[in-house]
Amino acid sequence: MRKNDFKISIVIPVLNEELNIAELFSKLKPFLETYFNYEVIFVDDGSTDNTLKIINDLRNKNDKVKYLSFSRNFGHQNALRAGMRYTTGGCVISMDADIQHPPELIPKMIKKWQEGYEIVYTVRKDSNKNSFFKKKTSDIFYGILSRLSDVRVPKGAADFRLLDRSVVDIISQLKENTLFLRGMIAWLGFKQYAIEYNPGERFAGETKYSIRKMVSLALNGITSFSIRPLRLATYLGFTIASLSFLYAAYAVYLKIFTDKVISGWTSVLVSVLFLSGIQLITFGIMGEYIGKLFIESKGRPSYIIKEKKL
Ligand code: UDP
Ligand code: MG
Repeated sequence: MRKNDFKISIVIPVLNEELNIAELFSKLKPFLETYFNYEVIFVDDGSTDNTLKIINDLRNKNDKVKYLSFSRNFGHQNALRAGMRYTTGGCVISMDADIQHPPELIPKMIKKWQEGYEIVYTVRKDSNKNSFFKKKTSDIFYGILSRLSDVRVPKGAADFRLLDRSVVDIISQLKENTLFLRGMIAWLGFKQYAIEYNPGERFAGETKYSIRKMVSLALNGITSFSIRPLRLATYLGFTIASLSFLYAAYAVYLKIFTDKVISGWTSVLVSVLFLSGIQLITFGIMGEYIGKLFIESKGRPSYIIKEKKL
């Protein structure tokens, strides 16, 4: 066994969570102290409130608290990845700062890891505490994702999970600029164990996942793991082309064999609107992928660390 195999690392991305940090740490500490050694790495994802100061205060009292601070907001997934890269423990647990991921689950996760599972992930149980909106959007997202992409992400999978060092090392080496961790975990394989949990309510503050961020996460999730949407565009093109061929044949038939006048306006308008809609969607789908290629080809880092204390 390697030297740090008994060390537990916790990674917590934080964006303007000044009211949650102290509370979360005080809840975590009793669980962590029963283990041999631990570290808690906060990743400040461009907070504009007192988040960093509060983390620093914690650090001054306890040097097991460490942090990275981004130069601006680079997003939750990038914060998770950055945090993981700086961990030194034998296993790494990622969790949210708002105490929606119950620290009480940690001993069970570690037990499963010790039994030999390299990945212990968690799945949200449907609970009434989830807002109706979150539940619905999450259902739609997992529905589309499972239909359109080649990885099977369990419905309700959360970014609350334990990864063995070997898995963390693999993720740290990935060169992808936009990483969708939940899909990547499903794609990686290994021995995985799922734990269901009841999400608590956010302890303080508002959700940091705006609708814009949710849509962008969903699109990344789909386009990172599948080219099926591109194929869908092709199928759609073929279907519509065949239908319009039939329609053309019908029009020619009417013209030659009957004296019915085709009352053109409505049908022309409808088909033009419909076809231009389809074309725009198809361009949009292609654009998503070309944009992805463009971003990847520039090879820019997915985050910039402004300050760190390890
Ligand atoms: N978060 C982040 N960067 C972002 C958005 C969110 O680091 O751009 C953090 C946030 O501080 C929290 C976690 O990611 O610790 C999950 O966010 P949140 O609880 O707001 O999401 P929700 O539970 O509402 O889906
Ligand atoms: Mg939350």
